[in-house]
Amino acid sequence: AVSHKAERSKLGPRLVKNAAYTYVRPEPIQNPELLGVSKAALRDLAIDPSSVDTPEFKETVAGNRIITIGGKDEPSDEDIYPWAQCYGGFQFGQWAGQLGDGRAISLFETTNPETERRYELQLKGAGKTPYSRFADGKAVLRSSIREFVVSESLHALGIPTTRALSLTLAPEARVRREMTEPGAVVCRFAQTWLRLGTFDLARSRGDRVLIRQLADYIAEDVFPGWESLPAKLASTEEKDAVTAIRGVPKDDFQGGEEKPENQENRYTRLYREVVRRNALMVAHWQAYAFTNGVLNTDNTSVFGLSIDFGPFAFLDNFDPSYTPNHDDHMLRYSYKNQPTIIWWNLVRLGENLGELVGAGARVDNDEFKNEGVKEEQMEEVVKRAESTIAAVGEEYKTVFLAEYKRLMTARLGLKTFKESDFEELYSELLDALEALELDFNHFFRRLSHISTEEINTEEKRKDVAGRFFHKEGLFGLVIGGESEARERMGKWLNKWSERVKEDWSDSSEEERFKAMRAVNPKFIPRSWVLDELIDRVEKKGEREIIGHVMEMALNPFNEEWGWNKEEEERFCGDVPKYQRAMQCSCSS
Ligand code: AMP
Ligand code: MG
Ligand code: MG
Repeated sequence: AVSHKAERSKLGPRLVKNAAYTYVRPEPIQNPELLGVSKAALRDLAIDPSSVDTPEFKETVAGNRIITIGGKDEPSDEDIYPWAQCYGGFQFGQWAGQLGDGRAISLFETTNPETERRYELQLKGAGKTPYSRFADGKAVLRSSIREFVVSESLHALGIPTTRALSLTLAPEARVRREMTEPGAVVCRFAQTWLRLGTFDLARSRGDRVLIRQLADYIAEDVFPGWESLPAKLASTEEKDAVTAIRGVPKDDFQGGEEKPENQENRYTRLYREVVRRNALMVAHWQAYAFTNGVLNTDNTSVFGLSIDFGPFAFLDNFDPSYTPNHDDHMLRYSYKNQPTIIWWNLVRLGENLGELVGAGARVDNDEFKNEGVKEEQMEEVVKRAESTIAAVGEEYKTVFLAEYKRLMTARLGLKTFKESDFEELYSELLDALEALELDFNHFFRRLSHISTEEINTEEKRKDVAGRFFHKEGLFGLVIGGESEARERMGKWLNKWSERVKEDWSDSSEEERFKAMRAVNPKFIPRSWVLDELIDRVEKKGEREIIGHVMEMALNPFNEEWGWNKEEEERFCGDVPKYQRAMQCSCSS
């Protein structure tokens, strides 16, 4: 998409007018040290692992070298010149104006010949761009380690996300935050780095042409073409649910029999695709207790990827009101709010696409294309856009719930979902985990080791319930104390084992264990693990630990990793008492 003549722009804190991106070159770093590479990323990008040791690889992911046709030293007109994107965004619910890639520079796009997936490679922390405003364009090592590990961890957990190829230390960069810290560059990649905020900015400029161009580009180049939208529905359950929405003839939405001008136009289909993908993504976050922490519209992907890893965290004990963001006093971005906030962001997208969505079949008339909505059409177009957004909101809810149920059903080791499971298994479990302050992800992994035989009497169940407690026992504040807690979990285990027996009547417990352990990770990069990793790399100069933690992140369902049993178990164990539910500031 970007192959025109390379133009460097002047740097500085100013608005960049009319641009969707700007050509800009990464700032070279002195003596870069390659700290880590993701094997999974190499595979997905079809990079030969043996090339990692070459100077070309190291200098490219550090931003010191630009790949050119024929290996010239400097890019010429025929080459792809690096670029930074322009976008805006709503931050904490307020319009924040132009933002853009202030410290991210895209290098090129590359397609894996086998999967045919195309990715855009990008360097984060590679220096100033025209969108840096008053900041330095740098990233500190601490936040780069966090992004490197979590991107690949989420991917391995099956959660849609942007990815990370490499982590490079810039040993001579002293980056000033609360203190002076070492800098780093992460080479990351994604099918697209476009965000909802990309559209927000175009709308704020009143640029209806750019909105249409962006929408067409996303449908045709990022997704595999208009015909494919929306993509295939994931499960039959979901299919039924969505068909049910469509079955209710809504005037302006998938009615089927309505007047041609009311038929779903392709921008509605595109909108639905973006919405559906984000619904699937947030369902995964809720099912694995991941919190992004800064869900501004500029941090919400049009491709439905987890994007922008600032103060993110996985929950330790199940606390729905937890936010990892130290500055989020209103709990806007807390765990329990995520599905609502993603929808809030998607409504902004619906508004951005409002003219296209609301135009119905008229969208391709030359008159409309050139002049937009006429005064006398305004009311009707707005009405149609509004009702479409509302209907898509129903689809968002349905897709979210269907996916959440699918994931939770699997995590609980069930083969089927029964309506009564929602109340009797999910709700009761979540209430108990919250009340007893038990660890969310540990719970499911531990459950994956429990046979129905082990819990076939009340006494046994109460005994087994203790396995879910922290190693120091229950937290002091739990009302009723240990015996009530054991009773509560015991009762739940009883219901659960009845359901398990029902679903697995003709298969072995071993099969169930295997299925459960394939969806319930043993390793999650919790805040305290990442903190220890950062400390050991930054302060103690350790290096091998990065590869070991990465190996765990890439294979989270393993029982062991062949590194060091004791260390592995500790990293998979309880959060140390004083590091529970840590929070981060955004100064990364
Ligand atoms: P975030 O809170 O990470 O979503 O960032 C919001 C905006 O601030 C984006 O436009 C970033 O590119 C920009 N930004 C954050 N940190 C820096 C930095 N150190 N240098 C330049 N721009 C930054
Ligand atoms: Mg951001
Ligand atoms: Mg960020």
